[in-house]
Amino acid sequence: MPFFSPEKVTSALLEWHIDNPRDLPWKKTRDPYLIWLSEIILQQTQVSQGLPYFLHFANKYPTVKDMANASEDEVLKDWQGLGYNSRARNMLKTARIVAQQYDGVFPDDSAGLETLPGVGSYTAAAIASFAYEEEVPVLDANVIRVMSRLLGIQTPPSNAANKKKLLDALDALIAHATPSAFNQAIMDFGARVCRPRNPGCESCPLNDNCSAFASGMVHAIPFKAPKKPRKNRYFHYMVIGDEDGLVLRKRQEKDIWQGMYDFPAIETASTELLNSDQIHSFLRSHFNLTNYQVVKHSTDSQVLSHQQIHGIFYTIKSHGELKTGDKGPFTLASYENLANFAVPKIIDCYLKAKSIHL
Ligand code: SF4
Repeated sequence: MPFFSPEKVTSALLEWHIDNPRDLPWKKTRDPYLIWLSEIILQQTQVSQGLPYFLHFANKYPTVKDMANASEDEVLKDWQGLGYNSRARNMLKTARIVAQQYDGVFPDDSAGLETLPGVGSYTAAAIASFAYEEEVPVLDANVIRVMSRLLGIQTPPSNAANKKKLLDALDALIAHATPSAFNQAIMDFGARVCRPRNPGCESCPLNDNCSAFASGMVHAIPFKAPKKPRKNRYFHYMVIGDEDGLVLRKRQEKDIWQGMYDFPAIETASTELLNSDQIHSFLRSHFNLTNYQVVKHSTDSQVLSHQQIHGIFYTIKSHGELKTGDKGPFTLASYENLANFAVPKIIDCYLKAKSIHL
């Protein structure tokens, strides 16, 4: 591409950033713990949604050792509402590794950072450049979009050859700047100027270096692979309770919402209601419960990135002693204590809507 000048692009990006700073708390620090925390929260999350969570975590756990001392239940409760809970579980694993094996100090280069759970090459590059000024470019969704458009890449940017092209071009750009300043500038530029929809091309300071703009291909880049259809799943939830509380189930299996709590459930292939034999057999085998009344049922759904969850709720009033056993996934939660459990959105909505008390 004859008109792409790394020096000019970098200097235009830095000038633009000086005139358009973004006032966010994690930009005012060099503390790798707070930078790491912000990067984990902002993976797959918009800044406006992630900011209150960042402030909450930074306030409740001011150091990585404070976080390392928290229980997984507590961290998942703090995380509730952000989604992609494997991030929270990995965050806690990393906090414990840094606290115990590194005495509370994060590794000071991207290679060391990348060994930590939940820290991929992008997150490692962000922490290493912002905290330690390592000359390593970040490749987040904003940067991929800017660079794919500047270079006019019309195939999926995720393929290995394109990724190398993007990284080579970024290496040439970052060489003309302080690493943290460059990475912050291009990430913010992608978020605010070279936006996914309605990018500000006409007044863009890079438009005379932009291949997509020159060829009229801006809206087709970055190339998007067709999305796979979402998988439908049908959870028939038994909301079993008595005067004292409700039975919750800790989701222990490797699946959505791992580590969070929902209700005991039977998963089927449709919304067709369970018959009384199925309910009876489930209650007897898991809780030795034979004296009960199915009061009512209701439905709700929750859309996840790759799945749509259909919840069919059966409210079951126990007239016998509710036994959940000492081991296993079930626990009897008192009504007063229900709010302390980390639950998926579909369960949270159900509990709030029903203000349940059997
Ligand atoms: Fe992005 Fe448009 Fe600027 Fe090119 S000209 S970098 S597509 S905003």
